Amino acid sequence: MHPNENRVGAVARMSVKTEVFIGLGSNLGDPIGQIQTAIDSLSEALEGLTRAHLYRSKPLGPQDQPDFINTAVQGFTHLSPESLLSLCQQIEAEQGRIRTQHWGPRTVDLDILYYGAHNIRTDVLVIPHPEIMHRSFVTRPLLDLMPQGLMPTGDHIDANRYDFSELIRIDHHKD
Ligand code: AMP
Repeated sequence: MHPNENRVGAVARMSVKTEVFIGLGSNLGDPIGQIQTAIDSLSEALEGLTRAHLYRSKPLGPQDQPDFINTAVQGFTHLSPESLLSLCQQIEAEQGRIRTQHWGPRTVDLDILYYGAHNIRTDVLVIPHPEIMHRSFVTRPLLDLMPQGLMPTGDHIDANRYDFSELIRIDHHKD
């Protein structure tokens, strides 16, 4: 494959690498396997990929659906924000994300949480992701990656503000 292409085809590459954080969630099929597969795909575009622990949590919204598995990864990419979004959406599509219901079950959901220190607000992208600070299943894995809670934008995740007791930490599959 040409170095300027990946699974989303020709992509906008930035001359500098940017540190990015991506949140992942899944509650259908084999959620842990789904997350592993998505992380493997992301590793094609993220250098030095580091993964947080996996966490099991109760679903937001409708409760008549399986528990979620959530995690986050950090890495460095040459992809533009839009190309990174395309990659995330391609991975979701490849893994057969089923979007039948708002906050309903999903094979795998990828959210760009941070793209360096950038604040981005377009028709298709809001970064930092607006729900980060409201969701313990997002802040908990981010604290694995950044134990001081200091994020690239200068945002601070204060671990004391969250009740993490309902999150059950589980191990990644052994590779
Ligand atoms: P959701 O169904 O909640 O995963 O939302 C998917 C939509 O959110 C996509 O169509 C994206 O265009 C949009 N979106 C906005 N900001 C982001 C972000 N930071 N990461 C991923 N998707 C985003």
